[in-house]
Order: sequence, then C-alpha cells, then structure tokens
Amino acid sequence: MLKHITCTVCPMSCDVVLKIGEDGEILSLTGNKCARGKVYATKEHTAPERTLTSIVKVSGGVHPVLPVRTNKPIPKEKLKEGMLVAAKVHAEAPIAMGDVIVKDFLGLGCDLVATRNI
Ligand code: SF4
Repeated sequence: MLKHITCTVCPMSCDVVLKIGEDGEILSLTGNKCARGKVYATKEHTAPERTLTSIVKVSGGVHPVLPVRTNKPIPKEKLKEGMLVAAKVHAEAPIAMGDVIVKDFLGLGCDLVATRNI
C-alpha cells in the first residue's frame, strides 16, 4: 500500500510517499528532498502529534472566552478528548499570555496555556 504524506516542515511541502507493509511497517520512503522530511513522515505514520488549540470559558475579563493551546504537541488520537476537557474548563481573569490554565493536561506531561492576556 502507498501512503502520501505532505511534509509540513518547510514551505516546499514535499509529497512524501511511503510504501507500507502488511503489518504497517515502512518498506520504503521517497519524495522527501531532505532528511527532515524522512523524520517527519516516519513520525506522522507511526505516532502523529498535533498541538491542540481551543478556547476556555473565563470570568472577570473583558471577553467571555480565552484562547488556549497545549505547550507541546499531543498524540493526534487525544485531540477529541482534549477538546471535550477544554470545553469544561473555567478560568478566572486576570490571566497573562503563557499562564498555565491546566497543568499536566490529560496526564500527557504538557500544559494547557493561555495564548493572550485577559
Ligand atoms: S522534505 Fe525537506 S524540503 Fe521537503 S518539505 Fe520537508 S523539510 Fe521541506
């Protein structure tokens, strides 16, 4: 089976093509113009991660919601759970950009942090 992954490490957006074996193993990898693309596509195939961005409710500020994000990428399969957890968070102003809103978010060793002052 062939799997196409667009490398997002730089603006070249190389189309990296992985030949995948029956057990999901990578048999070959082509289309990347540099080694970073190999690392990216391998990670994207074996353990994809994303930075979660969302909003949480906030009281006492000029806006009713606060934009937040995880300070490290988290496993892609945890994004939905993370969105549901973030939807239940209620923060209190004043909050500075970078403040930790939820420590050890989902027990993943990263924090949910504010991305603006409020
Ligand atoms: S493979 Fe290399 S050149 Fe191509 S998009 Fe990725 S980082 Fe850029």
